[in-house]
Amino acid sequence: MKHLYNNTLGELVAFLQEEFQEPAFRGRQVFEWLYRHRVTTVEDMTNLSKTLRSRLAETTQLQTSREMTRQTSQVDGTIKFLIGFQDGVSVETVLMKHDYGHSVCVSTQVGCKMGCTFCASTLGGMIRQMTAGEMVEQLLYSQRHLDLKGDRVSSVVLMGSGEPMDNYDETMRFVDILHEPDGLNIGYRHITISTVGLVPGILRLADNPRPLTLAVSLHAPNDELRSAMMPVNKAYPIAKLMEACHYYHQQKGRRISFEYALVGGKNDRLDHARQLAALLKNLPCHVNLIPVNYVPERNLTRTSKDQITAFRMELERLGVNATVRREMGHDISAACGQLRAEHMMQT
Ligand code: SAH
Repeated sequence: MKHLYNNTLGELVAFLQEEFQEPAFRGRQVFEWLYRHRVTTVEDMTNLSKTLRSRLAETTQLQTSREMTRQTSQVDGTIKFLIGFQDGVSVETVLMKHDYGHSVCVSTQVGCKMGCTFCASTLGGMIRQMTAGEMVEQLLYSQRHLDLKGDRVSSVVLMGSGEPMDNYDETMRFVDILHEPDGLNIGYRHITISTVGLVPGILRLADNPRPLTLAVSLHAPNDELRSAMMPVNKAYPIAKLMEACHYYHQQKGRRISFEYALVGGKNDRLDHARQLAALLKNLPCHVNLIPVNYVPERNLTRTSKDQITAFRMELERLGVNATVRREMGHDISAACGQLRAEHMMQT
């Protein structure tokens, strides 16, 4: 069965031409049904002939997933969905409301093989890749929820489970589907690819013409500490990573975001802030300080509010832009991967 959500506009047009000898505009019609009207069955695509609809229904599928469970934050309305697929795997996707609009966090892999010591997603290893169509389906749960209020998803972050640079081609097909002006119309600049720091992926993205936004999970300002927290640092140490970031900035002229999860007693001292400032000198960027999320399996202490503020102010004093990330949905086991982990425990 062909998965309709797994196609860019161009691919859908080609598919309907080749398989059904339909004119080019037919593919565009189907695309609009999927992403502008957001129908859930081929039957609802009422400007297609009955014959074409039944042939499509026989050979293609739309939704391949279902909502297993959801949690809604009473504090800020954040919704976390657990989405299950036909082969039994599940991933999380999260809808968040900001003053600039609604953003959705999407998972690019089931589990993850990067092994970061503070992260829940990597605990069971990487089970499999998500296809572009499966990422699209994740996003549509949020969009359909917003449809009830006449609202839309305006930005997307690839910060769910998985490493997008380890699933590069599907990730690019996904962003092309989102970007399509006749579909969901989410601009490339409003899509953030977050990477653990896979240097070849950063270099590839630097040479990619799409103006996507890049976030790099740095989390530590020196190799000793970073290698202890993130095994990927042994393959791509900080010097190589920074070189790639400079190249990215040269090519794109875009500011990079660095994610820095503050872990109590690990990477949160003021001299870490100073090392970080030295590292980021001469690179237009922004640092997102994240109070580390509690993960039951990981023995993590949180940095105190005062220390977080002191860390941020030290960075600012040294000329580095930094903000403390607002915590979303902290009442709904918000840490990445926890809803899935809880569900797997129960079953
Ligand atoms: N693999 C990609 C994207 C997924 S993780 C990456 O590494 O960037 C999304 C972000 O959440 C990353 O910055 C990751 O380091 C961070 N993260 C993972 N576990 C966390 C935790 N327990 N607390 C805070 N941030 C965490």
